[in-house]
Amino acid sequence: MTILDKIAFSPDPKALLEQLHVGPESGLGIEILALLERAAPLGRPKAVFDEAFIDARGEDTVTIAGVTFTSRVLCENLADMERVFPYVATCGVELDALLEGMDDDFLRFGLDCIKQMALSAAGAALGCHLADNYGLTKSASMNPGAGDADLWRIEEQRPLFDLLGDVEGMIGVRLTDSFLMCPNKSVSGIFFPTEVDFVTCQLCHREGCPNRRAPFDEHLWIAKHGTAAPR
Ligand code: SF4
Repeated sequence: MTILDKIAFSPDPKALLEQLHVGPESGLGIEILALLERAAPLGRPKAVFDEAFIDARGEDTVTIAGVTFTSRVLCENLADMERVFPYVATCGVELDALLEGMDDDFLRFGLDCIKQMALSAAGAALGCHLADNYGLTKSASMNPGAGDADLWRIEEQRPLFDLLGDVEGMIGVRLTDSFLMCPNKSVSGIFFPTEVDFVTCQLCHREGCPNRRAPFDEHLWIAKHGTAAPR
């Protein structure tokens, strides 16, 4: 298991103001910049990952380092793989300290955006580390609960956390009974090498998602599921 907990966090004030659609000299802009000034030195993005190997495959299952996952699309994506990288990345628990006594919804939303920036820093550091140390220069990731419900069920967070061990002890991320992660700006999944671009959004029907990174791809759906996509 490798823990990355010395990740630089230098959030860009201009990008934050643009995301929140406020000017630097407006009242809200001044409050957000003051919040960012408090948040930047506090933020401690982190990630944990393991280099793991596939032990066995079933029709809809794949066993990685002794832990079995069930997902037809995951099996399909890992069909030619031997080595994968299960991981959890997070904004870190430290920024939530700023929530105390914060009643203003706009500032709470602003803090959530700052946490998202910290999570992005953790994801970028993890990607660089895997590229530099494991030659994983072209990769994709699947995440339990992302995309359509049957793609890879959110309940599979449990075996993923089991595979990684004491994730809360290592980087502070706790899994709730409903398989959500605390802090909320955390992401879990499995990185795998690929020459073909893949993002879960290509197999996700959700309309109007502000985070969509690729359009729905009906041909890919059929290739991965073996059936036509539901309407
Ligand atoms: S479209 Fe949105 S909900 Fe669907 S997988 Fe992409 S980011 Fe997730």
